[in-house]
Amino acid sequence: MKKALVVLSGGQDSTTCLYWALSQFDEVQSITFDYGQRHKIELKSAKKVAEIAGISHHVLSIDTFQKLGGNALTAEQEVKNELNDNNLPNTFVPGRNLIFITFAAAFAYQQQIQDLVTGVCQTDYSGYPDCRQNTITALELAINLGMESQMKIHTPLMWMTKAETILLAEKLGAFDALAWSHTCYNGQYPPCGHCPACELREKGFQEAGIPDPLLSQRAGFPQKH
Ligand SMILES: [Zn+2]
Repeated sequence: MKKALVVLSGGQDSTTCLYWALSQFDEVQSITFDYGQRHKIELKSAKKVAEIAGISHHVLSIDTFQKLGGNALTAEQEVKNELNDNNLPNTFVPGRNLIFITFAAAFAYQQQIQDLVTGVCQTDYSGYPDCRQNTITALELAINLGMESQMKIHTPLMWMTKAETILLAEKLGAFDALAWSHTCYNGQYPPCGHCPACELREKGFQEAGIPDPLLSQRAGFPQKH
């Protein structure tokens, strides 16, 4: 039996990856990290998405990123649409994907799971260096050396545009779950519409020529968070 573990943030891409995994593996589990993100709506979305998909969902806590602060997702900073002096967005959380995927691998190891799935993408993306294929390739090697394992990190969206990802989500029947996914960096529902994450999501749906189910299908949840 082929088992996979999906790193589920509650966002659009990881939700799509979850449905991709369901189409590829016999058993799929999901893992979400409570890393001190300012917006707990992400955790609620991940739980709801896993529930709709009918798969098990595990939440692991890591409080280090909040203690480190220094970015708009874990500290009280305004989300900026312009890049920092180092050409990275102020929503970049240094080390986040490296740690998430390493912890996911440690979890998978205990469960005898060898396939990890993550929604990272370097085509239409937020400019985070830990979303790029070379980072993932290096991390997979480090994990397998360090754990004496044969893990495979699947990145089905790596080379897709946002519009292509949306068409894939539609084909995989992920839209009911996508209606509950969360993208907005300002943690808002309905989404703020002007942060970089909202803009990227909106651009993707426009290019795909499909209405976003978050805006067209969903009613009422969660009004407060
Ligand atoms: Zn937004």
